[in-house]
Amino acid sequence: MRYRDLQIQTQRVPPSNARTEGFAWLARAGYITRENQPTKLGEESLSRLKTFFQVDDNRSEKFRRLGLPVIAAEDAEIFFPIPAGPDEILQCPSCHYAAQREAARFQKIPFPAEPKLPLEKILTPECNTIESLANFLNLPKEKTAKALMFTRLLDNKFIFVVVRGDMQMSEAKLTKLVGQVRPATAEEIAKAGAAAGYASPVGLKDALIVVDDLIPQSNNLVAGANQPGFHLLNTNCGRDYKAELIADLVQAKAGDVCINCGQSLSAINASLLTTRSSIRFDAVLSALAEAHHDDKGLSLPKEAAPFNVYLMQLPGKELDTRAAAENLYQAMQKENITVLFDDRDERAGVKFNDADLVGCPLRVTVGEKNLRAGMVELKPRKAAENQLTAISEIVFKIKNAL
Ligand SMILES: [Zn+2]
Repeated sequence: MRYRDLQIQTQRVPPSNARTEGFAWLARAGYITRENQPTKLGEESLSRLKTFFQVDDNRSEKFRRLGLPVIAAEDAEIFFPIPAGPDEILQCPSCHYAAQREAARFQKIPFPAEPKLPLEKILTPECNTIESLANFLNLPKEKTAKALMFTRLLDNKFIFVVVRGDMQMSEAKLTKLVGQVRPATAEEIAKAGAAAGYASPVGLKDALIVVDDLIPQSNNLVAGANQPGFHLLNTNCGRDYKAELIADLVQAKAGDVCINCGQSLSAINASLLTTRSSIRFDAVLSALAEAHHDDKGLSLPKEAAPFNVYLMQLPGKELDTRAAAENLYQAMQKENITVLFDDRDERAGVKFNDADLVGCPLRVTVGEKNLRAGMVELKPRKAAENQLTAISEIVFKIKNAL
């Protein structure tokens, strides 16, 4: 295609809203707008990527071929690690287990077993948070039970969740277990016989009680008495209430123990590239721009570059360089080489800069001096030097290089 037909707009400076270098280079090279929408040039690149991923074989292997250091997580998700990434994943540095934070599994360490003590109701004024309760009773948070109350969207079932007081519930894990939920209303909480801030599963009506798998191993937890201002000491799952569902329901965090090998998990920010069912091509292109650029512009691999060749001509005084370049343009297309033909009347410096910015794998330059000797310049984007090449051999050389 011709440079002018694509309406390419390159920029001398990065946009002020660039959060990553990859975004800045994509915007400067004219692949995306400031609002992160693909331009015609960007669409060419995305279409190449779609073709590359069309055959649904080993995706991790494909990302390796693209030169992307990706992380394959559980549930067939693939991430690109980047500090500005919106997703938090937990990864084991030893066995490479990885998962999204909300879904990550880890080894839970129960506190030492102790005999079950009798239930006891105590006055706990203004202790409607785990924090205030643990302070008031001078107990560690892991000796408390945290209550969370929801209503299931499907059938309006009241769902009462219990996790240990020092842990955070994972909504992703809960949803996977029981289906979509919303927070229960004050009315629904009252109807089940619970009291917000002082709730426990002891003595509830018509509630689906769901507990984290650490709860049945945790004896004598402090829980609400379902009466404002009161708590129960020594609640025991199985004795004082029955759980309908027992499952892993809490979030892992950095430092927790790897489910596979026992090493500590590390937290990494990342960008999600693929789920089991779909590929986020715009995120893949951003990751590629992050991994493949230098201080002059992009240097995308051929599977993602919008064109194989950046063809440019420098104006001549005696010879018609444009006509020679035009002939090469036709010849390359006949051989299924994709070409971006920069036939603008611009200064050489502008064209060289744009060629580096756009970053096609190969650049071919038609200039008067070399043309006189029947030669053109061939330069791979990642190479430092030009190769003078006979015009008669250029198509062959390009095909070999791709
Ligand atoms: Zn591990």
